[in-house]
Amino acid sequence: MGDSIYQIDPDRCTECVGHYDVPTCMKVCPIDNTILKDPAHVESNEQLWDKFVLLHHADKI
Ligand code: SF4
Repeated sequence: MGDSIYQIDPDRCTECVGHYDVPTCMKVCPIDNTILKDPAHVESNEQLWDKFVLLHHADKI
């Protein structure tokens, strides 16, 4: 949580790759267009999968 808004840590966000088909925070937020992809952190599906594995299965690598 940031000072006045929640902030997404790009090092921990996989855009829900590995968990869901679409970014869940965007899907469940009741206000449209409040959670936007950060153009400074564009990642491929493969990069997001690699991050998912590192975050959740690093002990098995
Ligand atoms: S819900 Fe999914 S897309 Fe949203 S911050 Fe978490 S990992 Fe990222």
